[in-house]
Order: sequence, then structure tokens, then C-alpha cells
Amino acid sequence: MPFSALGLSTELVKTLAREHYAQPYPIQEQAIPAIIKGKDVLGIAPTGSGKTASYVLPLLTNLEDVSEKKNRYVKVLILVPTRELAIQVNEVVKFFAPYVSHWIKSMAVYGGVSINPQMMGMNNVSVLIATPGRLLELVESNAVHLSEIDTLVLDEADKMLNLGFKEEMTRVFELLPKKRQNLLFSATLSDKLENINQILLHDPLVIKIEAEEENIDLIKQNGYFVTEEKKGPLLRYLIKNKGLKQVLVFTSSVYKADNVVDKLKKNGIDAAAIHGKKSQQTRNEALSRFKAGKLNVLVATDLLARGIDIKFLPYVINYELPRSPKDYIHRIGRTGRAESSGEAISFVTEEDKHHFKVIQKKMGKWVTMIDSEGIDLKGF
Ligand code: AMP
Repeated sequence: MPFSALGLSTELVKTLAREHYAQPYPIQEQAIPAIIKGKDVLGIAPTGSGKTASYVLPLLTNLEDVSEKKNRYVKVLILVPTRELAIQVNEVVKFFAPYVSHWIKSMAVYGGVSINPQMMGMNNVSVLIATPGRLLELVESNAVHLSEIDTLVLDEADKMLNLGFKEEMTRVFELLPKKRQNLLFSATLSDKLENINQILLHDPLVIKIEAEEENIDLIKQNGYFVTEEKKGPLLRYLIKNKGLKQVLVFTSSVYKADNVVDKLKKNGIDAAAIHGKKSQQTRNEALSRFKAGKLNVLVATDLLARGIDIKFLPYVINYELPRSPKDYIHRIGRTGRAESSGEAISFVTEEDKHHFKVIQKKMGKWVTMIDSEGIDLKGF
């Protein structure tokens, strides 16, 4: 089915064609007409399946008739768990909105940066993308009103419920009008999500996209048995020897991320870290340099593992393994997105061996293992 058959605003359809969105992804084919009709939707779909456009495009279409409103009552509220995702969703909204109506103003608000510009910028905003904590601060200072919300979107809903946002979310729900459209998107369907689905959604269209297996099939996976001390040299060896560009390296702690970056830089490799202790500006800069292919290595904690769309990312290296198999899949999922294939490399120490087996078992795939003992790491 082409985009033109889904009920989207005409200019949007033309723009999609120009942007090489040849045809709707499965989640878009189902979600777009339902959202335009005002239905509630529960979308279970992995990152990379096109879920952002699946709600942004119809919601913009529904705002076709907005006019200048000169007030602080937002129409669409999109709640997300991280600042990065807020910025990314807003980029998609900002890109498409002018093709629907030049009155549609959107804004992303999140903590960790000064609240003042966000308060000042709220006038006339129709689409607000927010992390829950900052949203509540803005509501408390009367910078924004939620009583005229038409549509609520929870993106990465499972993550938001897991991260202990529950208290904040309950407060947000109390501020919303009872009658509204609810859209829930999540990579996984957990018990918690099932609960909130029953409380929140009315007769929803349930869309389940089983793309994870497919995505994983696209990814070449390798593991290296390595000691803790040799991890640094092995990383540099792989980057230099294989000439790897645009490498996303995962560590489990902030300290380790900074440490890995220091050592890479000392060895002449351009690297930056992105984690919760970095200022928002530093994170944004690193991410955009990396996305543009101008930064060789980005070292991240799991903060980045979900929801962030980096096109054509060829390499993910697990310097340290994630705790859960689910997180492993999300991390390496960065490499097999939007039909481009990539490689995921995991460093496995003696202590990790059992854990890595559990990960592989859960994933249903066995990873080729290489013993780093056989590699000459001298000079790296
Ligand atoms: P998402 O799952 O929302 O993070 O989207 C993953 C990537 O797919 C983004 O880079 C989108 O720009 C891209 N994308 C989404 N829908 C389509 C489509 N129908 N055709 C081509 N690319 C798309």
C-alpha cells in the first residue's frame, strides 16, 4: 500500500517521496490510518522499525487546521524517557511539520539544561516532546497547560515504566483531560506495559512487529575472549588494524567510558564519551559529530542503547557486556537498521563466559568466538 492511500496530508506524501520513503513500513501502514481516525494504538515494535514516523505523520495530519493560538495549551504531548530521544523525535516533527502547516510549532523539553528558554519558548507550541520530570516542573511554573491535550504518546513506554518514572507519570496522567487519544509504543511487551495498557487505552488497535529476529539476522556477530587488561589494546587493534570508522563502544559505567576515551585519544584515535554525567551540550555535540561521520569512536553507557537513530552505523563493540540479553539485542540492533547490515563485536572475559552463554541462548543465536591470545597486540 502506498503512503498516498493512508490518509496523510498531500504535501506530506510528496515530501516522503522526495525523502526516499519509498513505501510505508508495516507499522506505518497499520498505525497511520488508525491514528488519523482518532483510535488508540498499542504498537510493539523494535527501534528501527519506523515507529517515530508512524505516529508523527498522522498526528501532524490531524493538526492540519491549527491556527496561531498564542497560548500555552499544547495539543499533542509526546513523553519519552531520555533527552536524546526527545531531541530526535523533535527533529522528525520539525522536519515534517512545515509541509502540513506553518502554524505547527513543536518543542523538546528535558532536564539537565536551563529551564528558562524552555519556559519562554512554550508560547504557541502545539506539539510538546518531554521527559516527565521537566514537564512537571514546567507545569508547576505555569509555563505549559495540559488540560487541552488531544493526543498523548508514550514512546519507549516500557523503558519509562522501568526507569522508575511511575510516580511522575501518575502525576502527569492526573493533569490530562479524561477524553483523549492515547498512543503507546514500546520495543517489548512487559507485564507493566500490559497493566498500563489496560488502564490507559480504550479499545486500542494492537500492532505487533516481530522485526527483532530479522534485524539480528542482518548483523554479523563476533566475540573475543580477552582479559580485562588486554581489552584496551584489543579495542585499539581492531579500530586501527581493521580501519573501523563510526564505532559505537558500550561500557557499563561512566568511569569506564571516560577511561576508554582517554586511552583512545592518547593513541591518536578521535573519540568522545556520551553518558549521564556529561553536560547536555557536550552530549549533543558528540552525537551530532558522530552521526555526521566526523567522530571515529563514540563511547556510551546504556543510556544510548535505545531509541537513538544513527543511520548506517557499521560497528558496535561491547567493551563490557550489558546485564540483560534484551539490552544486548538493543545495543547491537544499532547496526542492522533500515536494511543496512553491520557488525557487533563483544569482549568476553573469563568471568563473562557464563553470562554471554545466557545472552546467546536468549537470543537464539550462537556467536563466533575468537581467542585474543592468538593476536599480537604489541604496540597497541
Ligand atoms: P525509527 O524506528 O522511528 O527510529 O526509524 C528508523 C529509521 O527508518 C529512521 O532513519 C527513519 O528515517 C527511517 N524510515 C522510517 N520510515 C521509513 C520508510 N517508510 N522508508 C524509508 N525509511 C524510513
